[in-house]
Amino acid sequence: MTDITELGVAAIRDGVAGGTFSAIEVAEAFNANVAAAQDALNAFIVATPEKALAAAKTTDARRAAGEPLGPMAGVPIGMKDLFATAGVQTTAASHILEGFVPQYESTVSQKLWDAGAGMLGKLNLDQFAMGSSNETSHFGNVISPWKRPGSNAQLAPGGSSGGSSAAIAARLAPAATGTDTGGSIRQPAAFTGISGIKPTYGRCSRWGVVAFASSLDQAGAMARDVTDCAIMLEAMAGFDPKDSTSLDLPVPAWTAGLSANMKGKTVGIPKEYRVDGMPPEIDAIWEQGIAWLKDAGANVVEVSLPHTRYALPTYYIIAPAEASSNLARYDGVRYGLRDLPDGANLQDMYAATRAAGFGAEVKRRIMIGTYVLSAGFYDAYYTQAQKVRTLISQDFAKAFEQVDVLLTPTAPSAAFALGENVDDPLAMYLNDVFTVPASLAGLPAMSVPAGLDAQGLPLGLQIIGRPLDEQGVLNAGLAIERRAGFTAKPEKWW
Ligand code: GLN
Repeated sequence: MTDITELGVAAIRDGVAGGTFSAIEVAEAFNANVAAAQDALNAFIVATPEKALAAAKTTDARRAAGEPLGPMAGVPIGMKDLFATAGVQTTAASHILEGFVPQYESTVSQKLWDAGAGMLGKLNLDQFAMGSSNETSHFGNVISPWKRPGSNAQLAPGGSSGGSSAAIAARLAPAATGTDTGGSIRQPAAFTGISGIKPTYGRCSRWGVVAFASSLDQAGAMARDVTDCAIMLEAMAGFDPKDSTSLDLPVPAWTAGLSANMKGKTVGIPKEYRVDGMPPEIDAIWEQGIAWLKDAGANVVEVSLPHTRYALPTYYIIAPAEASSNLARYDGVRYGLRDLPDGANLQDMYAATRAAGFGAEVKRRIMIGTYVLSAGFYDAYYTQAQKVRTLISQDFAKAFEQVDVLLTPTAPSAAFALGENVDDPLAMYLNDVFTVPASLAGLPAMSVPAGLDAQGLPLGLQIIGRPLDEQGVLNAGLAIERRAGFTAKPEKWW
């Protein structure tokens, strides 16, 4: 029999429904892979094999009783540790939330359980989802299952959803949730040779998701292929009265609507994404992507997004500003850690708890955010950034008068080594250069694996769509996937 852990969401679900294997067998196989890789990859903060088994038992019983099965029935998944899970520690990879066990379940995770999925565990991430390499986690960085041939250097799995990307690439989970504020689904997907989609802002409820930057945060799906992403996103999305920014719209049947035929579609190539110093291999894979979409029937045109170069500075004002406000709630009173020095007053406790509880990158963001929101600088930075954000959105709106989707590289390089950028925050922030604009504009965007670089590491292509056109994004992704035929996987060393 084929190794179950080589299968994706659709194949597992169909295999369970058709009786090829039981959901319990699936859960056991993935639980075993999770346990075997934990020391080497550190992808999970907490493993919950019993949850995966319990969900599997329910699925097997339903099947035996002839009851209908959900669209994710029998599929065990990883849950990024940014989603509140009732009765299971939820930390956002921070010390300040260590030991916090929510009484409630996030809307997105609840929807996945209702669809029949089970939980393999809570996945590691950059602390409060701030980072591009997973090195800001309080629980140690995730190590990518990929290596450069002939080198033992440990590589970054991307971030912030690096536990999710590493787990999927290493076959510890067929799929996982991610969240994306400025690229945290797409960049780790690109670094590890998997697919990941961030839907339109408001498609997935943010209720029960630890907040980083509320006007940017979106949950999304990560899996090995486009179809699996579509199935999972369909289960996650939908209106939630508990989130005031949730969109009150029906969830389209994205999976049923999948088509790799791009005839009649126009693809835009934003010329401002040809940034200086881009490695020739990134350029080459982009050209290859253009050729694939033409082959699929698309018309390809160059477009201009003139404010692109302001996107990173705008993001690194708005996201820290919102973070500094959101993270004010961690004060030693309400959640997790409390540091109460002898004879301390309330102010001392706040200061001691926050000093001990937040990592360096989180403190950096809180300081930047507080600065740009301070009375003397608010207009110069925050108000100005909001104006530029509008200009960036207008650039996209104008381009979408002419084209259906945009094609760009996902990240400016393949995975870098751990430690390479850790002391250089600006170099780290540059990773987000291609992903941040779509986040600022709230647009759906996805990364699909397109090929390998000369060192044998995965490279991804990004598709950005019109607001609410996840279908267009998924379909262009599928057209690339069919032509790329990406089957590479990391050689097992763990
Ligand atoms: N790398 C970006 C940051 O550090 C994006 C993170 C994210 O999308 N959560 O802010």
